[in-house]
Amino acid sequence: MVIRFRNYGTRLSDFEEEILVSCPQCYAYGGLRLRTAKILTVNSDKRITCQHCSYTKQHSKNGKRKATLPLWQNNSKAKSNSDYEILDHFFGLPLWLQTSCCGQVLWAYNKAHLKFLESYVQSRLRERLPDDTLGWHNGSLASRLPRWIKLTQHREKILQKIQQLKHSLE
Ligand SMILES: [Zn+2]
Repeated sequence: MVIRFRNYGTRLSDFEEEILVSCPQCYAYGGLRLRTAKILTVNSDKRITCQHCSYTKQHSKNGKRKATLPLWQNNSKAKSNSDYEILDHFFGLPLWLQTSCCGQVLWAYNKAHLKFLESYVQSRLRERLPDDTLGWHNGSLASRLPRWIKLTQHREKILQKIQQLKHSLE
């Protein structure tokens, strides 16, 4: 069966409304297990909250963004440093959903983002459809995915890792 992929209009920013990160306070408490905290967009401000320890902090829209994410580029750092982590760019905290994969780092902001990646990798036939309002463009997430995610020989491995990441949400 040919699975079609039609989400070419999706942008990375579409998933920014909810970003799962490791809670810094749970970590500081020396908990046996890292806990997730959520960064949510509240009236264009970002607010992080942890439902486990009630940690909360706000990041105003005027505040500086932290070091930018090495988005979907193949990053050489991931190869040389196994501890390399992808950080969110508002609070600089490690993303909850990240794992090494094929010598790179596979990461996602949240469950919906993970599902997007899954359906992308699962699809055998990828179609580029023009955006309804913008026409053809290169701003979409799918057109910016790094090459290693698109390689057929990595499909099985990536899907396996996506399953592992899904389990970490349970
Ligand atoms: Zn916490």
